[in-house]
Amino acid sequence: MALSDEELDRYARHIVLPQIGGAGQQRLKDAKIAIVGAGGIGSGAIPALTGAGVGHLTVIDDDRVELSNLQRQPLYAANQVGERKADLAARYIGKRNPHVECRTVPDRIEADNVDAILSGHDLIIDGTDNFATRLVVSDAAVRLGIPLISAAAQQFQGQVALFRSKPCYRCFVGDAFDADDCDTCAELGVLGALTGTVGNFAALLAIRAVTGITPDAAATLHLFDGLSLKWRQIHIAADPACKACG
Ligand SMILES: [Zn+2]
Repeated sequence: MALSDEELDRYARHIVLPQIGGAGQQRLKDAKIAIVGAGGIGSGAIPALTGAGVGHLTVIDDDRVELSNLQRQPLYAANQVGERKADLAARYIGKRNPHVECRTVPDRIEADNVDAILSGHDLIIDGTDNFATRLVVSDAAVRLGIPLISAAAQQFQGQVALFRSKPCYRCFVGDAFDADDCDTCAELGVLGALTGTVGNFAALLAIRAVTGITPDAAATLHLFDGLSLKWRQIHIAADPACKACG
């Protein structure tokens, strides 16, 4: 469906950009993006994608808001502790931009439901806080041929990368993290503002990927250090022995 007058007005600051224009805005409207995890990184990505007019967002999260989430998850308010994050994220999206269709999946992603949940999307953003889920999501992205933006933040370190099947996230981290007992930010801590930076950067990569802004930057790990304030880029090589994409 073409952009309405209201949408042309709403997205005027995008449409005036030669790299986006009306055609790019239409691509955003037609895009279906799945966001795995509505925590700190999801809270950074969801507002940016909602404002940008991504037409379909699927929010996948089985958690409820806890008091300790409020330090870094601006989607939620103090009087919403105990409520389901996916429902609250959907409510936020609906209020902010009625042109965004939101589907919620209040389930934990597991190997046996991941393909059904993620299939049909144009892009996946993973902002979950454990390696086991990240690898399940990454392996599904490879199987389904869906580009994946993987984003993580811990202590003062943030990392974001776009994967297009090969190399994949598993090439980058290896198989050692399949077990569900790895460190998460609960044990190590994380600077609240950092998760927002990383989530917003993930949304930037997503908007670039959807609208076709080059360079594509796939297989490049973007590392941000909140102490030295430096961004670094590292090329990720494909692992010929990778269980997922090799
Ligand atoms: Zn791989």
